[in-house]
Amino acid sequence: MSDLRDLYQEVILDHNRHPRNFGALDDANRQADGFNPLCGDKIRVRLIVEDERIVDIRFEGAGCAISTSSASLMTEILKGKTVDEAKAVFQTFHDLVTGKTEGDLATLGKLAVFAGVSEFPARVKCATLCWHTTQAALDVNSKSEQTPVSTE
Ligand code: ZN
Repeated sequence: MSDLRDLYQEVILDHNRHPRNFGALDDANRQADGFNPLCGDKIRVRLIVEDERIVDIRFEGAGCAISTSSASLMTEILKGKTVDEAKAVFQTFHDLVTGKTEGDLATLGKLAVFAGVSEFPARVKCATLCWHTTQAALDVNSKSEQTPVSTE
């Protein structure tokens, strides 16, 4: 198990140092901002959604290693998924980090690296901030409406 943890740690640190899909997305048609006051993590997620499918997704912001790496991995996983599929992944991820389920780690792919977060309740919001923000963005229908997000 400790080897596995080291591996998970590696993935988190790598995505924190080199976040994927980081930066502005000019043609975005969905957008939301999120803030985690407990840690100070800030994020803006922008998406291009066409026919209920996430064609592109990028994020900006500043936060701790957990929030940044979670957003980075999330964008990799959600790109190309339908809105419904994205919400299903979020539910599975949320259950995993809140310890509600052992989770079938295989179905989570790289997101399984956040399994250890459930042991640190204060970090759960860091890991889920980007997901809450993305969900808010997906629930908004037009670019002009921007919903501030507060985590549960
Ligand atoms: Zn944080």
